[in-house]
Amino acid sequence: MYVKLLGTGSPKPNKDRSGPAQVVTVDETPVLVDCGEGTTRQLLESNINPVDIKHILFTHLHSDHVFGYGHFLLGGWSLGRKELTIAGPAGLKAFHEKILDMFKEDIDYRVSTLGISEKGLLDVNIIELPDSGGEVTLPDVNVDITSAPVVHNVKTFGFRFQKGEESIVISGDTAPVDSIVQLAKDADILIQDAAIASSVANNKNSDPNILKIWDILKKEHCTPQQAGEIAQEAGVKRLVLTHLLPNTDEEEAYQEASKHFDGEVIVGEDLKTIAIERVR
Ligand SMILES: [Zn+2]
Ligand SMILES: [Zn+2]
Repeated sequence: MYVKLLGTGSPKPNKDRSGPAQVVTVDETPVLVDCGEGTTRQLLESNINPVDIKHILFTHLHSDHVFGYGHFLLGGWSLGRKELTIAGPAGLKAFHEKILDMFKEDIDYRVSTLGISEKGLLDVNIIELPDSGGEVTLPDVNVDITSAPVVHNVKTFGFRFQKGEESIVISGDTAPVDSIVQLAKDADILIQDAAIASSVANNKNSDPNILKIWDILKKEHCTPQQAGEIAQEAGVKRLVLTHLLPNTDEEEAYQEASKHFDGEVIVGEDLKTIAIERVR
């Protein structure tokens, strides 16, 4: 198993960071987690054919994590995708159907006039996960996936992929909470929300509006320091900081996390692949 970061950004548009998305590859099968703005292009940049993505997990339905879904859904279908399973919180089905509804005329034209099969678009398998989390079963993927509720301002899940000895955990957007520590217990890789970097608050170029809501954001996201503390408590091997806002000082974020975590800290970058290394 390995994970590729497709987008390490946030709701704030950023030319260096695409919207939140990552792809976990299990035995050649890629499973997409979240589908932020630019995801389909980032897949192409990564030499992953969007047609080969047959599974998507959504941590939550905030715009930054789903903006790329319309493009993926219709674009991947137009490239020839024939099957798709998506899983995420309650509301996922309604969200998916709204997109189909918005583009109904376009879809009808492609099906009736261009003769494209409806398969892979109108028969998407949708799994709404129970609020309490638990096992997630995706068809044809040979890996154990567990979801756990985390603390954000809408229903949000963290996900753990476990295959034999190997494990990769994705926190979703979350404030510090015991459920993410438990989910990430002894994981090889933890990809962790670390949005609330003090360097953003201290940068005079930062959006003054974001500073006004800083105290609210602290209840919904983690600082790099908190990301380090979670990784330390969980005993993970490698911590990857993601969901980074514009003006994040990467070196400072690295230092803040490293001060509280004995393992390896990686500041997330778009298109970076992170492999599991059993020996450090
Ligand atoms: Zn987000
Ligand atoms: Zn969010």
